[in-house]
Amino acid sequence: NDASFDVPTRPEDFDWDEHFPEFLQEWRERQQKQQQDAGDAAGPSSSASDTPVVRFVDIGCGFGGLLVKLSTIYPDTLMLGMEIRDKVSAYVRERIAALRREQPGSYRNASVLRTNAMKYLPNYFKKGQLTKMFFLFPDPHFKTANHRRRIINSHLLTEYAHLLAPGGWLYTISDVPELGDWMKAKLDAHPLFERVSEEELEADPAAGLLALSSEEGQKVARNGGATFRNVYRRLEAPRPM
Ligand code: SAM
Repeated sequence: NDASFDVPTRPEDFDWDEHFPEFLQEWRERQQKQQQDAGDAAGPSSSASDTPVVRFVDIGCGFGGLLVKLSTIYPDTLMLGMEIRDKVSAYVRERIAALRREQPGSYRNASVLRTNAMKYLPNYFKKGQLTKMFFLFPDPHFKTANHRRRIINSHLLTEYAHLLAPGGWLYTISDVPELGDWMKAKLDAHPLFERVSEEELEADPAAGLLALSSEEGQKVARNGGATFRNVYRRLEAPRPM
């Protein structure tokens, strides 16, 4: 339940150094060195607004398979898994800690947070901050009465569009045909999203990871199940509907 985790009131209040200590420390040291090399008079010193921020989020990240893959493909990008289950998020935290220990210098850009992503994303991220949002095999909530609990819905898509930078991508995949259709229909109907073409998906390293990198995707593949991938771009301005 929500009472058992803290939520920042505003993104500025959150301490990202707890999640990415080596990455941010090294960035600051590099900045300092560059300023020293350039001489103190050479220009404005870097401000807190230049500090790297989370760009990728994996919503309902489960056991973290996608994050771990993305971390080495995009080593310079901060990324965060968000997972509501306490034990599962603790597992991912330990998984990343172990990888950081075993491979010094790697996996410093990936972390996980236990939270309810349907309620609290704006507490963690600012407008336009994210460049990729991933929704891999979200819970289907089959009953009509429970459709409002689906993590892709018209209301939440507006929130996701707010947090995504123009040109940012929202990735979805499901093995449930009905949910795949649902996510496609909601995204097609939203004025701030447009479908990404197959050619662009071919050229995108992250799109190739959707089916097989996560634990749920691997389970579906073992059972020979089909998957339905729908990826959309956040538009600069609403398109005429
Ligand atoms: N994406 C992972 C994968 O592909 O292996 C996990 C898929 S699993 C079917 C759905 C996950 O979403 C579960 O781990 C569940 O706990 C998490 N989840 C459901 N609702 C959530 C919410 N509101 N906030 C964060 N995580 C949530």
